[in-house]
Amino acid sequence: MALSGLGIYKLLPKTNCKDCGFPTCLAFAMQLAAKKVALDKCPHVSETAKKSLESAAEPPIKLITVGVGEAKLEVGNETVMFRHEEKFYHPTGIGFSIEDTLSEDDMKKSIDEIKKLNFERVGQKIEVNLISVLCKSGDGNKFANAVKLVLAASDLPLALVTDDAQVMKIGLEETKGKAPLICRATKENFKEMAGLSKEYKAPLVVSAPSLEELEALIKNVNTEGVRDLVLDTGKKGLPEKIWDFTQMRKLALKKSFRTFGYPVIAFVESTNPLEEAIEATTYVAKYASIVVMKGRNPWQVLPILTARQNIYTDPQKPLQVEPKIYEIGQVTDKSPVLITTNFSLTYYTVEGEVESSKVPAFIVTCDSEGMSVLTAWAADKFTAETIAQSFEKLGLKDKVKHNEVILPGYVSVLSGKLEEESGKKVIVGPREASGIPVFLRNLSK
Ligand code: SF4
Repeated sequence: MALSGLGIYKLLPKTNCKDCGFPTCLAFAMQLAAKKVALDKCPHVSETAKKSLESAAEPPIKLITVGVGEAKLEVGNETVMFRHEEKFYHPTGIGFSIEDTLSEDDMKKSIDEIKKLNFERVGQKIEVNLISVLCKSGDGNKFANAVKLVLAASDLPLALVTDDAQVMKIGLEETKGKAPLICRATKENFKEMAGLSKEYKAPLVVSAPSLEELEALIKNVNTEGVRDLVLDTGKKGLPEKIWDFTQMRKLALKKSFRTFGYPVIAFVESTNPLEEAIEATTYVAKYASIVVMKGRNPWQVLPILTARQNIYTDPQKPLQVEPKIYEIGQVTDKSPVLITTNFSLTYYTVEGEVESSKVPAFIVTCDSEGMSVLTAWAADKFTAETIAQSFEKLGLKDKVKHNEVILPGYVSVLSGKLEEESGKKVIVGPREASGIPVFLRNLSK
């Protein structure tokens, strides 16, 4: 059960010595309760108090790491049900299943396709995170060969999938020191799988069809000394799965029910490619920490990664670009100047359209605290005065010799005032960014 600031304070030495960098023990306790400071900042906590405080300081959903090195996947450590309450911290890992019955060539082809699934969106790289090797053959040697092949061809973390502990051990021998996800412990094999998890220092998926059975199994696995877990509720329909995930999240966060305080994994069951993408995206939204799917068409994966990117941004901090004058193409001092705000999505949309016009141009991004054009205008963050000030501050006169600027069509109402404030000739541009290519090409004729 998480302790309140006052509960924590009662366990501290209460000397107000300031060694932790806070003026009082109470101030430190409040920061500890808000998880903004680590307990070890206070060097005077007694061993008994430490025990109680350390469990209070544990996150309600454990952080689990799959893989090692730069590509490692960290999931869990979430603290809220809804992103607007704070934010979600560790984006869902998206993984792809490869079966060990594929020919070597088909396996290599599949890995190549998975490696190409990375995209750039609003200035950020969005990519996939995991390869799941499924032992369909039931043959340890075939499984080991598949694992070897994937390891040689990709740096992505692995999940090894088989219910047979002996086969799993053969696969794990190939991945020593790489902390793959062991999938999965069931009520039949949990002792052996827990043993492997300890021996190979690898996190373990615990799987049971109902929450009651899962709870019992988690307790059994914990008793075996394994606490790096990922939870699975087996094959079932999308609504049932979402219900499971929501209940487990609620119990972990709202009831401090530590047994379900682990990330969850979903294996996509749909076989229709479109439904597969929809199912995976739904799991990203509610509340899967890892989603494994078969389809790897870019058109299926990009929407899933886009949804994930949007869900895992801080809702209090819109994605922003630096307010500055961006040069698109081989600009000269005669190139047109477009004005927009510094909201990432707006900027990159405008940038993409300017690029596709093939007309070199400047884009002035005014500081609107990351709001889009209309929102910033409505909030008085994108006004004739602020735009004119941006021209001055960003040194527009040093970049161009002409006196024309292009204002987004949606705020054409600002054009008269902007001419007064900046002394420039204002041309009203298209309302939608999609109109920019034709607009610029006509302008440059
Ligand atoms: S270091 Fe410990 S005892 Fe000293 S003020 Fe901070 S919390 Fe209190």
